[in-house]
Amino acid sequence: MTTYTKTAETRTFEADVSRLLHMMVHSVYSDRDVFLRELISNAADACEKLRFEAVSRPELLGDDPKPRITIAADPDNKELVVEDNGIGMSRDEMAEALGTIARSGTRAFMERVEAGKAAEDTQLIGQFGVGFYSAFMVADRVDVISRQAGSDEAFRWSSDGKGTYEIGPVPLEAAPKRGTRVVLHLMEDATSYATPYRLEGLAKSQSGHVPVPITLVEKPGAEPRDIADGTALWVRQKSEIKPEEYIDFYRSVAGQYDEPASTIHFRAEGRQEYSVLAFVPGSRPFGLFDQDRKGRMKLYVRRVFITDDADLLPRYLRFVRGLVDSADLPLNVSREMIQESPLLAAIRKGVTNRVLGDLAKTAENDAEAYAKIWENFGVVLKEGLYENYERREQLLKLARFRSTASGEGWRSLADYVGAMKEGQKAIFFMAGDDRARLEASPQLEGFRARGIEVLLLTDPVDSFWVTMAPEFDGKPFKSVTQGAAELADIPLPDDAAKPDAETSSDIAAFLAFVKTTLGKEVSDVKASDRLTESAVCLVAPEHGPDRQFERLLNAAGRLDKAAKPILEINPRHERVAALAKLGDDDKAFKEDAAHLLYDEARVLDGDKPADAKAFSARLARLIDRGLAKG
Ligand code: ADP
Repeated sequence: MTTYTKTAETRTFEADVSRLLHMMVHSVYSDRDVFLRELISNAADACEKLRFEAVSRPELLGDDPKPRITIAADPDNKELVVEDNGIGMSRDEMAEALGTIARSGTRAFMERVEAGKAAEDTQLIGQFGVGFYSAFMVADRVDVISRQAGSDEAFRWSSDGKGTYEIGPVPLEAAPKRGTRVVLHLMEDATSYATPYRLEGLAKSQSGHVPVPITLVEKPGAEPRDIADGTALWVRQKSEIKPEEYIDFYRSVAGQYDEPASTIHFRAEGRQEYSVLAFVPGSRPFGLFDQDRKGRMKLYVRRVFITDDADLLPRYLRFVRGLVDSADLPLNVSREMIQESPLLAAIRKGVTNRVLGDLAKTAENDAEAYAKIWENFGVVLKEGLYENYERREQLLKLARFRSTASGEGWRSLADYVGAMKEGQKAIFFMAGDDRARLEASPQLEGFRARGIEVLLLTDPVDSFWVTMAPEFDGKPFKSVTQGAAELADIPLPDDAAKPDAETSSDIAAFLAFVKTTLGKEVSDVKASDRLTESAVCLVAPEHGPDRQFERLLNAAGRLDKAAKPILEINPRHERVAALAKLGDDDKAFKEDAAHLLYDEARVLDGDKPADAKAFSARLARLIDRGLAKG
């Protein structure tokens, strides 16, 4: 941080701010209205921060205890002011807050916008911590004059958004008594934002439910007029709240621009008293997969905002937006201590119950709406399957899957279990990163022939939870690329080709030969009951990771020692039968064939041949042999 000086100085924006401003000024965002919501939201935050500080330092409020946001229009001078009597900023805070970008995801955001994905990202400005800079969409100069609560100095920040800003002291008469005044000098094509009716409409529709009252001054010298009363929406009766009011509130609390997929509003009474207003967003909020994977539920205590960092929901519900307002938590307690409070643990449990309950209800009553929720947040919810043992059964009920029977729809585990075949004991799955490749896998053939459904798991998180040995309805999960397929007990349909009497002595000898030839490449060579059309496939040994999990561990550098796969050979396959009949003649040819069968299985699994050079030599010999015969 730079040292304090009494005079005004000019400073250069951090490079990323300049980039961002450039984007703002050149209006990649089609919806410029959002700037007002961003400024009002900052003003409300500032009032709430002060309310919190004043719990331990009531003198900060002085003779002006009521929080207030004032919007003042000056149509003649093409000016618009958004002012609050909140916490205010010191000089250093101003330079820090309005000259740099704190949030880590911002660079990624800008790259996406610059790559031409602007349209979808208009939705995201607010969440990127770039809210204030959106003022430059409508203004060619912005002044911020601020006096921190309890301070006897005031400062002015001013910029045209073109690379530098000025910062310096101003006389107290030129500043708000407390808080921050943001003055927008509107661009020629944005002067309508100084029109009172326009401002009133925007403020009411975008920010009508911020918990701070808003007044409007229609022109210089006019009396302030209340346009929003700052009543917290969540303390009102559910029956009195209109759907639009919920939507507006959702947009301001979540920084989203869509409509919520689900609204959860309730008051818990009894041993714990608290209100909850939470939303399942209609689309993925920004930052869902950030490093810290934190939720953004806000904690209030008797309408005083405390923190949005209180872990009010488990991580696998971090997509939920909204707030909890507790009547029991002490107000004058540090944020850190709140985190440890047993009261908070009880609230967390209660809110988690309600959110999961709401999801279950949607799943039951409106499959289509639930499918959308699942498509957006299923991969997050599935993290709970391995992070939260106690909730696993509940989450398994909520989980939806693609499968060999699902088409483009979704299957629940109850659907799956209901369709299990006679003699089938397990819930079969195959994990991989691409559904099309999974569906073409030889490992599925025997299941398909028997009409057995196989879940197709394509999210990386799937490989993790399935290894935690979950059960559903008493049925274990079993990978089709691991261990024995256990298909013998499940009858083939009458019209399917029945396998011949298992492994003749020729076949047994051939399997042994292949095993000797491949040596250390594989841990075993076995006759397969999971193949019907293909000649070969690879599976993982019964214990340890399945094929896909092994790949993930390997990619993450967490696999100490790769387990050798088992090569399964289809004894009913014509080519295999013919090879088995060759006897001891032509050993070199049979050895080539053994290696090529192994490489074929590897390629079908999405891998490379074991040894590219040896592979080409063998293939060449095979082609030559074919040519010589022809
Ligand atoms: P965000 O609000 O998401 O953090 P902004 O770009 O909107 O991002 O604001 C950056 C920071 O500037 C805020 O976090 C806050 O510290 C400060 N700030 C902006 N407006 C005000 C205000 N009216 N009063 C006090 N501080 C403010």
